[in-house]
Amino acid sequence: MPTSPSDPTPPQRARTAEPYDLAVIGAGPAGLAAAVTAAGLGLRCALLDTAERPGGQYYRHPPPGLGAARPDRLHHHWPAFTALLARLDTQVRAGRIDHLAGHHVWTAEPGEPWRLHAVVGPAGTGSAVVEARDVLLATGAYERQLPFPGWTLPGVVTAGGAQAMLKAGLVLPGRRIVVAGSGPLLLAAAASLAAAGARVPAVVEAGDYLGYARAPTALGALAANPGKLAEGARHAALLLRHRVRLRPRSAVVEVHGEDRVTGVTVARLDSAWRPVPGTGRRIACDAVAVGHGLLPQIELATELGAPTRTCPDGAVALVVDERLRTGLPGLWAAGETCGVGGADLALVEGEIAAREIAGRPVPAALRAARRRRRAFADLLAAAHRPGPGWTDWLTPETDVCRCEEVPVARIREAVEELGAGDARTVKLLTRAGMGWCQGRMCGPAVACLAGGGEPRPDSRPLACPVPLAQLADTVPRPPDGP
Ligand SMILES: Cc1cc2nc3c(=O)[nH]c(=O)nc-3n(C[C@H](O)[C@H](O)[C@H](O)COP(=O)(O)OP(=O)(O)OC[C@H]3O[C@@H](n4cnc5c(N)ncnc54)[C@H](O)[C@@H]3O)c2cc1C
Repeated sequence: MPTSPSDPTPPQRARTAEPYDLAVIGAGPAGLAAAVTAAGLGLRCALLDTAERPGGQYYRHPPPGLGAARPDRLHHHWPAFTALLARLDTQVRAGRIDHLAGHHVWTAEPGEPWRLHAVVGPAGTGSAVVEARDVLLATGAYERQLPFPGWTLPGVVTAGGAQAMLKAGLVLPGRRIVVAGSGPLLLAAAASLAAAGARVPAVVEAGDYLGYARAPTALGALAANPGKLAEGARHAALLLRHRVRLRPRSAVVEVHGEDRVTGVTVARLDSAWRPVPGTGRRIACDAVAVGHGLLPQIELATELGAPTRTCPDGAVALVVDERLRTGLPGLWAAGETCGVGGADLALVEGEIAAREIAGRPVPAALRAARRRRRAFADLLAAAHRPGPGWTDWLTPETDVCRCEEVPVARIREAVEELGAGDARTVKLLTRAGMGWCQGRMCGPAVACLAGGGEPRPDSRPLACPVPLAQLADTVPRPPDGP
C-alpha cells in the first residue's frame, strides 16, 4: 500500500514483487525533484529516506504535533517545497511513487535490477529490500567539523544542527549564540537564529569574503547568479538590522565554561588559518554554532568503487557526466553527492537526472542553470577551503574523536612516534574514528593531523549500523546476476 507524505507509516515490504523503474535514495530537494519528475514521465519509483518526513536538510520543518502556525517563516523557498509535496502526494495516490519513509539504505548491490537493503523504523529493527532498474543517489551531505579546545562542552552545536533545532524543533541552542567556522551556511544560520530572537554577538568566519572577488572566474559566476547575490544581501541586511558583527579571517580558538559554555576566545587568522598571536578577544555567550562546510555523503557509491573527485574546498564528491551518470551502470547522482552546491542546484540536478533516466530530452535552459549554479558553488567552495594552519589552535588535551575520547596528543604520538602516515593507521593505533559516528565528526581532523590532507571516503560495506540478525538474513546475490 503506497504511503502519502502525511502518512509516514513505512510499508513493511520484505521485497518488491516487481522491480521499480527507479529507486531514489534521499528525499531532500534533489531526490524529491527527481522522484516527482520521473513519476510524471511515467516511471514507477520508490523514494527511500531515513527520515519520517520528506524535505531533507534544507526543507526541514516542524512535525504537525508541534502545532507551528507559520512553518514557512524559517524558509525563503516554502512555496517551492509545498508545490513539490503536492506533486509527491499526487504521484503517491496514483501509485507511481512508493514513499518509503524511515528506510535507511545500508548497502546497494549493483546488477539488473539493483538491490537496495534498508533498515526500517526509528529503532532500525525492521528490514526491507527494494529492487530497481536504476538508482539515484541523492543522499546529501553532512557537516565538516574541525575541533578546538572546549568544543565538547554542552552548548556547542553544529551550525546545521542549530538550523535543524530551529526549523524542526522550534528551539534555540542558547540565548546568546556565537556562529563560527566557515562557509555560506554560517550567514543563513546566523540570520535564522537572530530572526528567531537569539542575540548573535558575532559571526566568526575563518575564510575571507574578498576571496570570492579575487578568483579569475568570479565576475562571470557572480553575474550569472543574481539570485544568490540577492540572497546574500538579504542575509546581510538582516544581520545588520540585528547588529550582528561579522569577523572575517577569524576563528573561535577556545570555548570557556565549566559545565556549559560561558564565552569564547576569537583570534585573527593568517592566510593559512594560523591564529595570529596576541589577537585573542573574549566574547560572552551561552552557545556556539560552528561548522566548516559540508561533505558529500557518498559511502553507498564509494563502497562500490564509483569514481570520485576533489572539489575546490577539498571535499570529495562523486564524478558524474553531463547526464548525471556515475561511473557505475544504472547508478546516477544528484545534489550534494555531486559536490556541495545548495538546494537550488539540487532541484535542478534532480530534474535533469529524472529526465535522463526516463530517456526524455533535457531542456537547454535546465543544463545552463546547472552549469551556472555549479560555477557559483565552486567559487564559494574555493573561498572557504580550510587552510592547513588550523591545527595550531589545538592543545594536546583537545579531544579530536569525541566518540572514543581520543585527544590530539594520542594522535600526534601515533604519527610522530609510531609512524602512522594516514588516517586509517591512526585509527588502528588510537581508535579515532571507530565510534558510533564512524569518523564523520573527526575524520577530516584526523586526516589532517596524520598529514594526509582531506580524508578519502571510507570504503565500508555498511553505511549505518545494522542488526546482526538482519545481516544474517541477507543473502548476497551470486556474482553473475539476479
Ligand atoms: C545539517 C545541515 C543543515 C543545513 N541547513 C541549511 C540551511 O539552513 N540553508 C541552506 O541554504 N542550506 C542548508 N544546508 C545545505 C542544504 O541542506 C543542501 O544544499 C540541500 O538540502 C541539498 O539537497 P540534497 O537533496 O542534495 O540533500 P539533502 O537535503 O541533505 O537530502 C538528503 C536526504 O538523504 C537522506 N539520506 C542520506 N543517507 C541516506 C541513506 N543511506 N538511506 C536513506 N536516506 C538517506 C537524508 O535523510 C536526507 O533526507 C544544510 C545542510 C546540512 C547538512
